[in-house]
Amino acid sequence: MRQVALVTGASRGIGSAIAAQLAREGYSVCINYHQNREAAQALAERLQSQGCSVMTAAADVAVRAEVEAMVRSVEKALGPVTLLVNNAGISSQEQFQDLSDAAWERYFAVNVTGARNAILAALPHMLSEKSGCIVNLSSIWGLRGASCEVAYACTKAALIGLTRSLAAELAPSGIRINAVAPGCIETDMLRTLGEETCRALAEETPLGRLGTAEDVAQAVAFLASPKASFITGQILTADGGFTL
Ligand code: NAP
Repeated sequence: MRQVALVTGASRGIGSAIAAQLAREGYSVCINYHQNREAAQALAERLQSQGCSVMTAAADVAVRAEVEAMVRSVEKALGPVTLLVNNAGISSQEQFQDLSDAAWERYFAVNVTGARNAILAALPHMLSEKSGCIVNLSSIWGLRGASCEVAYACTKAALIGLTRSLAAELAPSGIRINAVAPGCIETDMLRTLGEETCRALAEETPLGRLGTAEDVAQAVAFLASPKASFITGQILTADGGFTL
């Protein structure tokens, strides 16, 4: 069967590296984006010039109808989604009491409901085929908590609950679902912390550097591959030893 991957939030950062890795491994890939159409298209053109089969699709993962429409367009253009990577996410830093109701709700809408929306849209075909794979992007902050990132950490912990619970529910249907919990990865998201903090985080990381988007992409590709065929419900930490 044709392997078709949908990577949410793939215009930049970790998502773009995941899309590129999977495309090079032979998946037909849909690069989802929200606001950065040009970056998504540039990535698609680069991969197409390397002989990869890719498409782009706009959708705010928080909006169920947009996600449904995107998954139907992937089915038409590439075939049914066999691998879903829930990578789209938002973060920012503020004290708990300063976060507005709207911002709290937006965190959950994008980071948690976004994953639910994509899973619900891709699941019917996976259930009928009794196969499929889902990888969620959690975070080490979802494992251990983070000052001034309470809402973000809550959403990433929720993804761990989603991963473990749904893995148990979907295993009898032959569908695997795992998560990657990255540490400090050099992307736009981390760069918002400023150069000094990034340097300190690199020093705090036992392997002595920040992770790259490609480091995380390799972990996702592993969990998606037949090499991980007996692995489900697991949280693979890719953090250079940060949480040791
Ligand atoms: P990033 O550089 O900020 O990129 C975020 C991506 O998500 C962009 O492609 C963005 O699309 C997309 N996105 C945001 N809101 C969206 C929405 N509502 N609908 C669809 N797409 C949306 O982030 P990153 O560092 O690559 O992080 C990727 C994932 O890894 C996130 O889930 C993040 O929580 C997780 N993570 C990151 C780190 C880290 O250190 N960087 C650590 C742990 C976990 P547009 O640009 O098109 O709007």
